[in-house]
Amino acid sequence: MVSTITGRCLCGRVKYEFSGSIGPATYCHCEDCRRCTGSAFNIGVRLALADFRITSGDPKSFTKRGDSGRELTRHFCPDCGSPLFTSAPGHPNHIYVKAGTLDDPGIVEPGHQSWVESAVPWSRINPNLPSFPRGSG
Ligand SMILES: [Zn+2]
Ligand SMILES: [Zn+2]
Repeated sequence: MVSTITGRCLCGRVKYEFSGSIGPATYCHCEDCRRCTGSAFNIGVRLALADFRITSGDPKSFTKRGDSGRELTRHFCPDCGSPLFTSAPGHPNHIYVKAGTLDDPGIVEPGHQSWVESAVPWSRINPNLPSFPRGSG
């Protein structure tokens, strides 16, 4: 079954669309992902590039060689700065969309995590921590 998946940045200038079935989500704890997300780790969802299109806006990009030795290009909104997706010359047929930019984040299926050795201790979710469905009041 082919469904259309949409996503966007925080301000809504950049929007994308994808028709197809999404790949697994990868959690990456590497330092570059920590810095570019501003959070503990990145969650990337693999999509086939051929079925992916930008429907609004013109993302900016930044290319850097990662700890793996491979170059990654990260694409983000030029207005609000939201990280949107990553492409890699080593994987020319796929892109990796940031899970949190999907309009329906419920479709994300966690696959595995990588660069766990770089994980910060505060990135693990402690089951004993108090949990709140929304704000902590
Ligand atoms: Zn934006
Ligand atoms: Zn990473």
